[in-house]
Amino acid sequence: MALIRATCSDCGDIELRSRDILIRTCEERDESTYVFRCPVCRMIEARYAEPHVVDVLLAAGCDSETWRLPSELNDPRRKDGLRVTHDDLLDFHWFLADATTAQVIETARPVSAEDQERFFTELQHADSDTIARELNI
Ligand SMILES: [Zn+2]
Repeated sequence: MALIRATCSDCGDIELRSRDILIRTCEERDESTYVFRCPVCRMIEARYAEPHVVDVLLAAGCDSETWRLPSELNDPRRKDGLRVTHDDLLDFHWFLADATTAQVIETARPVSAEDQERFFTELQHADSDTIARELNI
């Protein structure tokens, strides 16, 4: 098993084995990081990895995995300017503080694309009382 020299932000240069390093690649951005736990201070480090570094780490026998960006980033409502405001967060906080588990599940249930579009169109024009009534809060 290959010894790999890395740098911990607290401890400086350290030596790791290939099994101590995980390469993580974002599929959409084709960007990679490598992650390891420092054997001295036990802190987890994540570092950006250029493609040639990924090749070297893979050749040394490091494990790798891929991950995907959250699907919410492709939500068309984000492009329409519908943004979460501080008021939305406060409303959501108070909703979660007071809601029963059944209310949270009911609110989070999957709905059709048409219903979602109608709901968000109405939500853009609704006052806080209407929103509270819709969410049963
Ligand atoms: Zn360290």
